[in-house]
Amino acid sequence: MPYKFIFDLSKIPHFFFTEVAKISYEKRMHRRIGGALQDIIKKFRIEEMTGLNLSDAIHLLEDLVDMETRNFLERKRFKKTRKRALFLSHCSRKFMDNRCKARFEQNIPTYVCAHCASDCLINKAVSVAERKGYDVYILPGGSCVSKILKLKRYDGVIGVACGEELRLAGEVLSQMNIAGQAVPLLKNGCANTFFNLETLLKVL
Ligand code: SF4
Repeated sequence: MPYKFIFDLSKIPHFFFTEVAKISYEKRMHRRIGGALQDIIKKFRIEEMTGLNLSDAIHLLEDLVDMETRNFLERKRFKKTRKRALFLSHCSRKFMDNRCKARFEQNIPTYVCAHCASDCLINKAVSVAERKGYDVYILPGGSCVSKILKLKRYDGVIGVACGEELRLAGEVLSQMNIAGQAVPLLKNGCANTFFNLETLLKVL
């Protein structure tokens, strides 16, 4: 279930994510993080920059911290995996209409990128991940994760999605004993969503 609110963190300074990593460290040390979340929201003027209200901003930030924590705890196991998949959100395609030349494979289900636009974020992610040996899926929705993982067996999976979907996918991976890594969408919505390609490259 995606968020009920729209956010865009793509213009927030990168230092914000260093702070998120620090809070995640505090959480791993079992320290209280409530005050730290409020501080970072104030420091980076998240409410003003994104238009989110405080409770949605805290929700979003809590999910980012949880994601960072899970990535840290799973990293060693993930690095030992051999057969890996990358799950991308279809809403990060450059085009959401028939200008996107991706073919949809109903039985998997996934879009298959036709590499029609060199500046398409999905095209770039698919190209680099396939070069590294990943099977790449461009998913029309979060429910496809378990369908695909029942069809094909993977040791490790990277997901690019919003925090809430990543949390749900993380539960599926845990049940199936698959090592996971997550890359958050920095801008959500039904179209033109955005993730940081550099962040993905570091995780691949
Ligand atoms: S590059 Fe791929 S995902 Fe992007 S618009 Fe073209 S076919 Fe669609």
